[in-house]
Amino acid sequence: MASQHVNLFELGYSGNFDLRATSKLINSCQQEISVDVLDGRCDIGKPDVGAFAYPRQTLFEHFPPRVDGEVYVGVTVAPIEGNSYTITQDTDCVVITLHRTQAVAAEAGRTREEYVAQTLVTELLWLEYERATGDSDFGKLFHKRTRACIFDLVLDKSEKVHKLRRGRICKQCADKLEQANVDSGLVSAVTNVLAQVQKSAA
Ligand SMILES: [Zn+2]
Repeated sequence: MASQHVNLFELGYSGNFDLRATSKLINSCQQEISVDVLDGRCDIGKPDVGAFAYPRQTLFEHFPPRVDGEVYVGVTVAPIEGNSYTITQDTDCVVITLHRTQAVAAEAGRTREEYVAQTLVTELLWLEYERATGDSDFGKLFHKRTRACIFDLVLDKSEKVHKLRRGRICKQCADKLEQANVDSGLVSAVTNVLAQVQKSAA
């Protein structure tokens, strides 16, 4: 039985992407993480940061009722306040935006659904790490140095393309996860998902 249940849903107006493809990709290549697609939470009002982006509070306030131990991932096409690609709350809620990622996915030869899969498992490991260490400073795991690692903090588009194309877990991050006692089964499940995303490469 899967040890980590993830609920995936659309947040805000529909962006013409297929979350079922993301869940299928993740569920088909490992058994530790199981992803369910929930009904979209579409009615979340208009973006109200400069009539353009959603404030983080609005996004998290529209999350479905939570079950302890499960993780909730909302996907939106609208920008997030502060121009973040992902934001998290507590150790069980994540928002991923597809804003500005279309060109990244295209250039990397990946679909947006694959981009969501890779981002989702990256955040899942981060949340586990945060839970295990009790430290919410993401700088403890993510690093500025780029090593084609999923925990690279990438700032420009070409680095993001590279990360999507070759994303792996670098030695330093693998050691940190191990030292924090993050379940090794979960780490290998994530590695399988990364391999699956890379396999689909054009
Ligand atoms: Zn790393």
